[in-house]
Amino acid sequence: MQSKTRVCVTIFVAALTALWPWTATGQEGRQKKVFMITDMEGVDGIFDSELQCVPYKSPRYAESQKLLTDEVNAAVEGLLAGGATDVVVWDGHDSSRNLSVLDIHPKALLLVGEPVSPTLELDRSYSAVIFVGQHAMAGADKAILSHSYSSEGIQNIWVNGKLVSEIGARTMLSGFFDIPVIMLAGDTAACAELRALVSGAECAEVKSGVSRTAGFMLPHAAALALIREKTERAMKRLAEIKPYKLSGPVEVKVELTPHGTENFVPREGVEQVNDRTWAFRGKDIVDAWLKYSSF
Ligand SMILES: [Zn+2]
Repeated sequence: MQSKTRVCVTIFVAALTALWPWTATGQEGRQKKVFMITDMEGVDGIFDSELQCVPYKSPRYAESQKLLTDEVNAAVEGLLAGGATDVVVWDGHDSSRNLSVLDIHPKALLLVGEPVSPTLELDRSYSAVIFVGQHAMAGADKAILSHSYSSEGIQNIWVNGKLVSEIGARTMLSGFFDIPVIMLAGDTAACAELRALVSGAECAEVKSGVSRTAGFMLPHAAALALIREKTERAMKRLAEIKPYKLSGPVEVKVELTPHGTENFVPREGVEQVNDRTWAFRGKDIVDAWLKYSSF
């Protein structure tokens, strides 16, 4: 009996020790790890893909790298000020060749190179996802450099009948792992797109389009201050913002452009809806999406 009691006490103490940050300080002791999805077309000051966004080819590409890096670092600062304990920054634009360890925030971890896993290395250890430099979906009104994954290959994507782009699909992917998307930095159209999915999300509208290739831009310093403010606020409001959950089986429907169909090899068991549209079905968003492509 005595030894049994001792074993029980030992197990209890061990369990308490393992749970110490939670038992001692409640939620405050918990790790708050944030995943930042970055892109370039939604960065303040960017309006021309050829001039600014093609790595090492565009005449103003080096400037774009600096604009993006500064926005990322402002977001990292805001997240840390709002209570984040870890920030992972994924370089998501054009084959992940844009950010450098030389000038990324010293407290952030950079995820670069290809391939990363089809689900962006996300898992349930993350508390939040944010977007920085994000553009709106193909066809969106007054949306600077809008496209859905590929302006050359994809016309439209629907998930269970809802039109989505990177914003929608990755918000749903995050929801699969119970992670809320809490903030986006980009133009007015990209902000509206996230707000339509996650009503409580914070948005830093760093620019506002008047067409697909023109718009009003905040001065760089003002954009950085706005991003810092919104990320801090989003982090402080984390508990109020819920993950986007899809229930039941999921259908991903993809309409390719005429150019996109040239490179598309249909797989077995995938339904062809019309000459440019395909439907991919699965038991959940990840299952259905992976039948089509990576996120
Ligand atoms: Zn991009």
